[in-house]
Amino acid sequence: MTYANRRVFVVVPAAGCGSRMLSDRPKQYLPLGRSGQTVLQTTVLALLDVPEIDGIYVAVSPEDEYVETLAIPAAVLRTGGKTRAETVYQTLEALSDTIADEDLVLVHDAARPFVQPQDVSNLIVRTQKGIEEGMCAGMVLAVPVWDTVKRVDEKGLLVEDVERNGLMRIATPQCFPYRQLKSALAENLETTDESSAMRDAGYAVGVVESSSRNIKLTRPQDIEDARSLTETPMKMRIGIGYDSHRLVEGRKFILGGIEIEHTLGLDGHSDADALLHAITDAVLGAARLGNIGTFFPDTDPKYKGADSAVLLKTAYEAVREAGWSVVNIDAVVVAQKPKLNPHVAAMQTRIEEILELDEGSVSIKPKTNEKLGFEGREEGVSTQAVVLLQSDCC
Ligand code: MG
Repeated sequence: MTYANRRVFVVVPAAGCGSRMLSDRPKQYLPLGRSGQTVLQTTVLALLDVPEIDGIYVAVSPEDEYVETLAIPAAVLRTGGKTRAETVYQTLEALSDTIADEDLVLVHDAARPFVQPQDVSNLIVRTQKGIEEGMCAGMVLAVPVWDTVKRVDEKGLLVEDVERNGLMRIATPQCFPYRQLKSALAENLETTDESSAMRDAGYAVGVVESSSRNIKLTRPQDIEDARSLTETPMKMRIGIGYDSHRLVEGRKFILGGIEIEHTLGLDGHSDADALLHAITDAVLGAARLGNIGTFFPDTDPKYKGADSAVLLKTAYEAVREAGWSVVNIDAVVVAQKPKLNPHVAAMQTRIEEILELDEGSVSIKPKTNEKLGFEGREEGVSTQAVVLLQSDCC
């Protein structure tokens, strides 16, 4: 049989309880990163990116309570045993009708989610070649030791320098033919890795250098470190808006989505709500979707007398569709009269309602402008708004 005819399967033993993680659940079920994917899911997804693999089997404990609640794109077998070797052995035994004697089996730790697919491909190809050439029975991924290595006694004192030349940290996957691995494990159910069982059974085992990212998550700190590796910083964008409208007789004074009692009203094509217009511009600007004029041209008779709350809502729908949502809004209104302080709470609440934001997301600060400028002369009202958007995707 030539190596090209061997199929390749992966067994992921995931029956351990991970007591060193000091967690309420086994480490393979701890979440990694903001996506909420668990360690086990991330590991399986990495293996799915290896084109040479024909099937992935995750082996869990018969009592496992978590696996059913996760979407795992692999076959799950309840073949877990008391030791890792027993789990792998029982899984291989359960697959005796599926996997042929000469097919290759990769055993990969559930707690190594950062294995590089290219390294796994390389391991498979090199193992096939090594077997064909009679060099070894299988191979494992391993990382060279770069640090100085010393032995420490029970008191915590250095007692011996260890020559680092030729030292490797053994990782996974470990890749062997099905029949040889199963018989080697049957003789050695206490072993902590497959390569030891294979060597004890008299087989030569080779190594393929692995990326040093292929770490095993063992302690609580490892999970923290891994999360900082996987989390992309949250994307945020900021937008600014400005508007002003003239004060005239015979119009309602509408600002911040509410009607306020006053002798004059704001003049404009729509209801002339200068505050909602500034916020609309800020929201659109932050998402780089243009401005209120390009969205709702005032040459369009459709918008004559339009409710600015509807315009803001419509603009924000486009922003939401582009994958952004408002974190908070801060605004300034410059008006000599009417007095706006008594209406601030109602305006804030109304804007939060229009945009369906959490309470406390909107802040409005009225200013009088000390009788200076058009606002101070009561000829008009101006507004400014700043908005922060966050991306929904990360
Ligand atoms: Mg306007």
